[in-house]
Amino acid sequence: MVSYKDLGLVNTRDMFAKAIKGGYAIPAFNFNNMEQMQAIIQACVEASSPVILQVSAGARKYANQTLLRYMAQGAVEYAKELGKNIPIVLHLDHGNSFELCKSCIDMGFSSVMIDGSHLPYDENVALTKQVVDYAHQHDVTVEGELGVLAGVEDEVSAEHHTYTDPADVIDFVQKTGVDSLAISIGTSHGANKFKPEQCTRNAEGILVPPELRFDILAEIEKKLPGFPIVLHGSSSVPQEYVKIINTHGGALKDAVGIPEEQLRKAAKSAVCKINIDSDGRLAMTAAVRKIFVDQPAEFDPRKYLGPARDELKKLYKHKCENVLGSAGQA
Ligand SMILES: [Zn+2]
Repeated sequence: MVSYKDLGLVNTRDMFAKAIKGGYAIPAFNFNNMEQMQAIIQACVEASSPVILQVSAGARKYANQTLLRYMAQGAVEYAKELGKNIPIVLHLDHGNSFELCKSCIDMGFSSVMIDGSHLPYDENVALTKQVVDYAHQHDVTVEGELGVLAGVEDEVSAEHHTYTDPADVIDFVQKTGVDSLAISIGTSHGANKFKPEQCTRNAEGILVPPELRFDILAEIEKKLPGFPIVLHGSSSVPQEYVKIINTHGGALKDAVGIPEEQLRKAAKSAVCKINIDSDGRLAMTAAVRKIFVDQPAEFDPRKYLGPARDELKKLYKHKCENVLGSAGQA
């Protein structure tokens, strides 16, 4: 049994309380390798932002849960070395069983998500409560989910949205004791968040998605004043990256995300954690593809992973400063 406190990590409790009061959201960035972790920490240290390092089921398979935990431990020391002791959470993204959540808690995670959103309501309540009961014994915070996001991300996939029903939220939070709640209001996993027929096209022919359901968010906030709300699938799919990828041998079709102004608006509400993964994938892929085309003789991985890391850092700093509003809050 390793306690996250001995690793220098924190849980989400104080972080979320401050974020709600301050009208900003904490970035939750996924990482699978060293370059992503370096980019996240460099960006958040420079922006002086608290940060949530997220490990998905796919990341556990790709990189190994133990290695990722040691990297997060290293991230705490790395941030200090860079000159700023920012609060860092190590969070399990989309935990799908009690056993998995327990194993993460036992090895030093400071926060876990138990995603029972695909289950019948009563089973979601029971599973979430089981995780909360164990996690709280170790002062680990838990994120639950009500409603289902469309899209595909790692092992999580669903064809259609099921928006969160505001009528359920009080009962769910009371019965489970969760510390935060992920909701479905129109964000979506992956880089193709909407089908072209769901969007309109602007003057430049770029797809414009339908607006998020801020009415549902407002309803939920009214029922649970001051309770931390989480948005998954909140990448904006910057079209400049899509363009670089597609003009350098890529083939991304109709990639469309959530406009940053809408995320900025959400961050000012009870939304205090915003998950961004696809934008980071696009930034790295754009940088790597460009180098492969422009410098075809290059074969040192540092010569393309380094610039990919720099691009990722730039993107994440921008998110903290201009989208989430978390810059300067560490
Ligand atoms: Zn998610």
